[in-house]
Amino acid sequence: PAPFADDAFKGYAVTDTKNWTDFTVMNYKPKQFTEDDVEVAITHCGVCGSDVHTITAGWGAITPPLVVGHEIVGIATRVGKNVTEIKLGDRVGVGAQIASCYTCKACKNHNENYCPTMIDTYGAEYPDGTKTMGGYSLAIRANKLFTFHIPDGLASEDAASMLCAGLTVFSPLVRNGCGPGKKVAVCGIGGLGHYAIIFAHALGAQVTAFSRSLDKKEDVLKMGADRLVISSVPGFEKEFAREFDIVICALNVSAGFPIGEYLTILDVAGIFIMVGLPEGNLPALTAFNLLPNGCRLSGSHLGNHEEMNQMLKLAADKGLKPWIQKMPMKDCGKAVKAVKDGKVRYRIVLEQDLTL
Ligand code: NDP
Ligand code: ZN
Repeated sequence: PAPFADDAFKGYAVTDTKNWTDFTVMNYKPKQFTEDDVEVAITHCGVCGSDVHTITAGWGAITPPLVVGHEIVGIATRVGKNVTEIKLGDRVGVGAQIASCYTCKACKNHNENYCPTMIDTYGAEYPDGTKTMGGYSLAIRANKLFTFHIPDGLASEDAASMLCAGLTVFSPLVRNGCGPGKKVAVCGIGGLGHYAIIFAHALGAQVTAFSRSLDKKEDVLKMGADRLVISSVPGFEKEFAREFDIVICALNVSAGFPIGEYLTILDVAGIFIMVGLPEGNLPALTAFNLLPNGCRLSGSHLGNHEEMNQMLKLAADKGLKPWIQKMPMKDCGKAVKAVKDGKVRYRIVLEQDLTL
């Protein structure tokens, strides 16, 4: 595979957040390649709920033009001398984080996903002012800590969405002791939620899905959940008082979501982990939502390097596959609209169609 010249980088960009389904192919300047970097010719990119929050300016204003996408798989076309885990021509992945400071307490403790000066794969800036552009594109350069070897047993199209959606639920599951004998509840069965079912089940836990309707029942049973509970009916939580050790909440909605009710389904000192990042404020709580069972209310952001490798290996070894729908990359406008409309079962993966 040939390396990319600096002027060869291009991708599908949103130029106006009001017309966020209109993408234009544009060229941009990549980060300067260093000996700690890997350059990737992108073959696949998943479409994350975060891409939609970003291009619609739902999380706040952005500065277009912007290329989004942070569930990237491709072929290594250039590998820096200081990179040990990846060889030229390897299949590699890049997720939602592309750099960190490497020196702070979080970075030193394998918590680089919590580095206060982390750099997002798109919509951020390197210290020299170069803007980061994501994976709805031809190629990307990333630091070696945020570039991952894809195991042979895992197809590129299946690996892509694991790089963000998969890792984001895998990390809090393993950090909170998910395994045999544990009961896990998953709320919101989209891209992240469906991975939470697949991985919690594969790790040996008993899994219950909470969804707004029965529509996804057959699917969640096939993914490894034991049952589906309709969460939109008042009193849905009553039957499950103190039942669960872990609640993974991947909901993409804030207004009116029954957070207090969800806390009652936790066992003593059980943990509620918010991985969803809906726009707006979460519903109010009182101290009495936290006190009766001493539950813990938490959040989680992506995962670290070791957890990514552990997840990819588990998926390859156990033959775990996400539920995906493939589309050519030029249809990224249709893809983000489908995510916004809640029509995806359960992740769209874009296939490369740009050429030099
Ligand atoms: P999806 O759109 O695939 O899934 C969201 C799910 O939320 C839906 O499937 C639905 O589940 C549920 N939901 C319930 N009510 C609503 C509503 N009113 N509108 C929309 N969804 C609703 O999104 P993703 O899985 O890609 O992302 C989920 C969230 O996680 C996003 O906010 C995203 O930004 C965030 N995220 C966080 C990361 C982190 O590091 N913490 C990393 C990546 C993403 P059901 O039909 O079962 O009710
Ligand atoms: Zn994401």
